[in-house]
Amino acid sequence: MQLVDAIKQKGITDQRVLDAILHIPRHYFMDSAFDKLAYEDRAFPIAEGQTISQPYTVAYQTQLLEVNPFEKILEIGTGSGYQACILASLGAKVYTIERQKKLFELSKEFTFLRNYPGIKFFFGDGYDGLPTYAPFDKILVTAAAPQAPPKLFEQLKNNGKMVIPIGEGNVQRMVRFTKMEEGSIKEELFDNFSFVPMLEGKK
Ligand code: SAH
Repeated sequence: MQLVDAIKQKGITDQRVLDAILHIPRHYFMDSAFDKLAYEDRAFPIAEGQTISQPYTVAYQTQLLEVNPFEKILEIGTGSGYQACILASLGAKVYTIERQKKLFELSKEFTFLRNYPGIKFFFGDGYDGLPTYAPFDKILVTAAAPQAPPKLFEQLKNNGKMVIPIGEGNVQRMVRFTKMEEGSIKEELFDNFSFVPMLEGKK
């Protein structure tokens, strides 16, 4: 509840997102060495030199995505699986891709996530998206890209939205793209964040 209060004070207003943060045990997604810190509003290391995003960042991206039940959502960067779990708890069907084999396997075998059969895990390069399962209502990228990957636009439905941190340095701008009915793209800029980079290829 303290974590929820903290992210509320930072400006998260969507009650469904706050409830998801309240109900999902974040410490399950982290090494037990961090048990006591799991409900602080901080990012933490997970396997393979990657991170579980800060809860505020997870809430911020989720709020911008305006998730509705039964929507098909593509997530790039499974990492710990925490963000995927938040999306699934909002009723979405989640297709999540991870480029690191070990992280993909860990999340796929993570017993707690069996409570969320709406999440499907894929090993692959997020720059390619998932053409077999396209189009998606929403796309959420949880790693920093130099620019929005063109293939992801192709896999977005009309009126679909993509939330993605864009930038090459240590700081990126959160951007929300909306694919308009007539095919044009609307771009909205939000706050700055700091993500691990979106890298090409699998590992
Ligand atoms: N959503 C995650 C955040 C993980 S950090 C969570 O809730 O824990 C970003 C993740 O993106 C890392 O695991 C990294 O390996 C992965 N990643 C980076 N580039 C990628 C790419 N091209 N395709 C798929 N995953 C990628």
